[in-house]
Amino acid sequence: MASSLPPRGSYLKKENAGTARREMGLKVAPRRNVLSAINNGGAEAAPVVEFSGREDVERLLAEKMKGKSKNDFKGRVEQMSDYIKKLRACIRWYMELEDGYLAEQEKLRGTLDAENSRHTQLEAQLSNAIEELKAANLDLTRRCENLEETLSREKSEKLIAAESYEKEMQERELAESSRDLLTVDLERVTHDAKRFSEQLKMVQDTNKRLQEYNTSLQQYNSNLQADASKSGETISKLQKEKSAMMETMAALRECNNSMSSQLESSRASQQEAIRVKEELRKEVECFRAELKQARDDRDHSVAQLNNLNIELANCKEQIGRSSKECESMSTKVSALEETCNTQQDQIQTLQKQLAVATEKLKLADVTAIEAMTGYEEQKEKIKYLEERLAHAESQIVEGDELRKKLHNTILELKGNIRVFCRVRPLLRFHGDSNGLEGASISFPTSVESAGRAIDLMNQGQKLSFSYDKVFDHNASQEDVFVEISQLVQSALDGYKVCIFAYGQTGSGKTYTMMGRPGNDQKGMIPRSLEQIFKTSQSLESQGWEYFMQASMLEIYNESIRDLLAPGRPNSFDMSASKQYTIKHDPHGNTTVSDLTIIDVFSIADVTNLLEKASHSRSVGKTQMNEQSSRSHFVFTLKISGSNKNTGQHVEGILNLIDLAGSERLAKSSSTGDRLKETQSINKSLSALSDVIFAIAKGDDHVPFRNSKLTYLLQPCLGGDSKALMFVNISPEASSVGETICSLRFASRVNACEIGIPRRRTSTSI
Ligand code: ADP
Ligand code: ADP
Ligand code: MG
Repeated sequence: MASSLPPRGSYLKKENAGTARREMGLKVAPRRNVLSAINNGGAEAAPVVEFSGREDVERLLAEKMKGKSKNDFKGRVEQMSDYIKKLRACIRWYMELEDGYLAEQEKLRGTLDAENSRHTQLEAQLSNAIEELKAANLDLTRRCENLEETLSREKSEKLIAAESYEKEMQERELAESSRDLLTVDLERVTHDAKRFSEQLKMVQDTNKRLQEYNTSLQQYNSNLQADASKSGETISKLQKEKSAMMETMAALRECNNSMSSQLESSRASQQEAIRVKEELRKEVECFRAELKQARDDRDHSVAQLNNLNIELANCKEQIGRSSKECESMSTKVSALEETCNTQQDQIQTLQKQLAVATEKLKLADVTAIEAMTGYEEQKEKIKYLEERLAHAESQIVEGDELRKKLHNTILELKGNIRVFCRVRPLLRFHGDSNGLEGASISFPTSVESAGRAIDLMNQGQKLSFSYDKVFDHNASQEDVFVEISQLVQSALDGYKVCIFAYGQTGSGKTYTMMGRPGNDQKGMIPRSLEQIFKTSQSLESQGWEYFMQASMLEIYNESIRDLLAPGRPNSFDMSASKQYTIKHDPHGNTTVSDLTIIDVFSIADVTNLLEKASHSRSVGKTQMNEQSSRSHFVFTLKISGSNKNTGQHVEGILNLIDLAGSERLAKSSSTGDRLKETQSINKSLSALSDVIFAIAKGDDHVPFRNSKLTYLLQPCLGGDSKALMFVNISPEASSVGETICSLRFASRVNACEIGIPRRRTSTSI
């Protein structure tokens, strides 16, 4: 506001200027006097001049002397006084103007002062107003601060509230997820319950179907018996026919006595007839044998094959017998011929009776023709019987298929995992019997448990166990093998088979699996291989061709050693250079990288391999401080067979495993490396049992990967594969603790039934 007003100094300058002009006016006065004196000289002629503005003044200043000569002073004075008058008027106008200006200035100054005072008043008012505003502002800022404080407090409260809300949300989510889990559990449980009831229904179905199958088998049996009685009738009819023929022959022989020529022809036809009859009888016998064979097939197909052979031998015997009969007949005939010769004379004497005889000859011709027609009929019968024979042969092939199925059914009904217990005899090598007294082991002999149970006395307490089979100390290797031969047969039929030997060190695992050299003492491995080669050769006649590959390895402290590696048997430390990683492909084939696999074509090949393996194992034993009992030995035979007649193809695997000693830590009081070994063995054995129990329970997850051994055998455990476990027992009293452990473990395995569900699904389809 102050800036819009002019500075006071400028008013002062104007005042000074006014004063200066007034002083100038004073000084001018004497000149005005001069001028007025001039003007007064010619005042009458002087024109009255009016000034209205600056232009008039300028025109006046620009006025010039007009046409007056230099000497015309009078004219010039007049002109000049005129001009002076004009100038005076002009000056007067200026002075008036100045006065007007001064008055106006005074007036303005008054107004200015009034304005100034008003301004100061306004200023005072303004400053008051500012003060008020300031106070108001202060008040407002204070209120603002208060509000901000409240705001921040509310914000923090809001934050806390948000946090608690979030927490609540989380809790709610947690609760929801647990609710979801619970609903899933509930669903699974209901699903399980449904599945179990379905399984129960399926079991009942299977049971019913088996009963039906049984009744159909009984029907089949009675049919076969009816067939047999029918063929017996046919045989008796034929025998009757035969006796009739014999009678005819006797009649013919009588004729022959009288007529030799007729005799010759009749004899020839009769002999033919006899031969045909013999052949027929032989065929009938064969057929009956075949029928019997087919019936036996149902009971036991292998026995049926043997029966066939026996029947064949019988037939041969009968053929021999009938050829003997033929011989005796021919001797009789020659005797008759002799008689004939002696009677030749009589014939001549009887030539008169020839005419009568001719008639009789005609009669004989008729008989011969009859014999011929009989021969034709019998020929047809032979053809019919041949057809029946071909049919019977095709039934044999079908019977073999049925045998395979029934064999598998029997094994499945026995349970796909079976447990055999074998007790070793007491050993007395060094003549000292310390700790060699036998523990009180006994074998119940009651009908239902004979060969299946074992009783053990421990601290006056009797413990009873029962398994699929129990072999006492008298059982020979052959006795044991008979029981597993069916399982070995399954490998040829295309199944995956595992046979384990379990037990403490020295209980006879290696003896059972490998045995000692010599025919009687051979173990399960050589015997199985012999059976496989023998059976595969006998199946060649049915069109089967088999190809086999063998591998042998040892698992020690979870590392694999190749027992067939070429060159010097390598030690475990050297094997680090080879990977031996186990891989399974989607078709159920297992490969171990770098492992030696050898094609085998005969028993001799395998015997060589077994020798080589036992050599590298025994070398390992001396160098590695009895590693053989601290490692698992796995023999694997891959069998692939194909039938070029039927186009069938089978892939079987036979695993024979000598497990490491099962003794527990406490007894072997291990330390250091031994401790590590024992822990590793315990781990892998418990991994094996975990796998077996998981499969038996039908768990979703089976922990195959927990040990090298179970991972290696993964495709051969479970499914429709078959497993057998030998539990070897030492009879010494000092081993009772370990023996009880082994028997308990075996009982638990024996309670498992692996593979039954698979069978159930396959029958329900
Ligand atoms: P493991 O392999 O379980 O440690 P072995 O098979 O080596 O036990 O057996 C220990 C000893 O007992 C060996 O000398 C073996 O020949 C002998 N032996 C084991 N079982 C029998 C048996 N059934 N008959 C005769 N000797 C046996
Ligand atoms: P385990 O099978 O419990 O490890 P071993 O096989 O080490 O037991 O030994 C058991 C018995 O078999 C011992 O008496 C040993 O002399 C004998 N034995 C084992 N392997 C051989 C071998 N390769 N040569 C000769 N005897 C052996
Ligand atoms: Mg052994």
